[in-house]
Amino acid sequence: MQMNYVFDIDGTLTPARSPIEPEFKNFFLKWRKGKNVYLISGSDYEKSVEQVGKDVLEAVNACFNTAGNICYKKGTVIYRNDWNAPTDLVTMLEDFLKTSKFPIRAGRHLEHRIGMLNFSIVGRDCTRKQRKDYNMFDLKVKERKKFCKIIMETFPDIEATVGGQISIDIYALGMNKAQIIKHINGPIYFFGDKTKKGENDYAIARKLTSPPNKVFTVKNWQDTQNILKNL
Ligand SMILES: [Mg+2]
Repeated sequence: MQMNYVFDIDGTLTPARSPIEPEFKNFFLKWRKGKNVYLISGSDYEKSVEQVGKDVLEAVNACFNTAGNICYKKGTVIYRNDWNAPTDLVTMLEDFLKTSKFPIRAGRHLEHRIGMLNFSIVGRDCTRKQRKDYNMFDLKVKERKKFCKIIMETFPDIEATVGGQISIDIYALGMNKAQIIKHINGPIYFFGDKTKKGENDYAIARKLTSPPNKVFTVKNWQDTQNILKNL
């Protein structure tokens, strides 16, 4: 059976939060010819267009966004799973906003995406410097990990993981990146930069560790390129 290649986008095909390098984009577009290639991201489709471009998104078999809760094929929606976060959860997140010791609130703390909720103490409107500061703060006090634990203890049918540098991704139980496996036929090579426990590729990576599947944990897009060259 033909191998399927699944790539996380941010930090795996692109620098963190940035567009793909043009040279790597050319390489990737040539490399994928004749292969089954899928993309998966926690972000929405519009963000993925910004990061890798429509040409890449339409050259692959499918692109799964918001952790697999919406799927696009050549720009057309194939399926979507809507989910409304419970009010009690939103109240809890507002409490976290009040009690976190991190001093800055930049705005856009809650982002409702298809099938998920993205939550950030510093807020998605933060500057690069504030983003970095929050990430340093969180590395020290492990605030996001604690929040995730509290959320999951309080709501047994909800899961929360640390996402990116500043946020937490929250979904209905099982509606994480791992859900895309059932939409792909045959063995999977998965590439992701956040495959450790508590990180946003962990849910899918942990299900693909035994042959013929394989997980490639990459440091950055250069790492991904090197692996693809040597496959
Ligand atoms: Mg990533």
